[in-house]
Amino acid sequence: MYDDNCLFCKIIKGDIPSTKVYEDEYCYAFNDIDPQAPTHILVIPKEHIRSAAAVTPENSKYVSHIFEVIAELAEEKGMTEGFRVVSNCGESAGQSVFHLHFHVMSGRPFTWPAG
Ligand code: AMP
Ligand code: ZN
Repeated sequence: MYDDNCLFCKIIKGDIPSTKVYEDEYCYAFNDIDPQAPTHILVIPKEHIRSAAAVTPENSKYVSHIFEVIAELAEEKGMTEGFRVVSNCGESAGQSVFHLHFHVMSGRPFTWPAG
């Protein structure tokens, strides 16, 4: 369930401080410490899943639930101009914390393709 060496597991447990945006039984959302947009929220499952590559039929309920929460947050936080959801998977794609997370960014224009 929790990985004692994982930064985001420690954030979920409250061992490392974070600015909470939302929490329920399945997920935790908090502000990114190094925001890349005026709104930059990270949404993470309360289960240690390493990355998008480790999603399975057994744990995909966390992912579908997180996307319901993202839609609610977008409404609640007034992301009316649009928002971007990103999950970096693997070091070469820019993943630096190996606990599945979805970046939800809004408040400025974004270009495509990214990076
Ligand atoms: P990634 O590089 O896609 O794995 O995303 C990891 C994200 O976690 C980065 O955007 C970091 O700024 C963010 N981050 C790292 N440590 C913390 C922390 N203690 N609290 C909030 N966000 C963090
Ligand atoms: Zn973890």
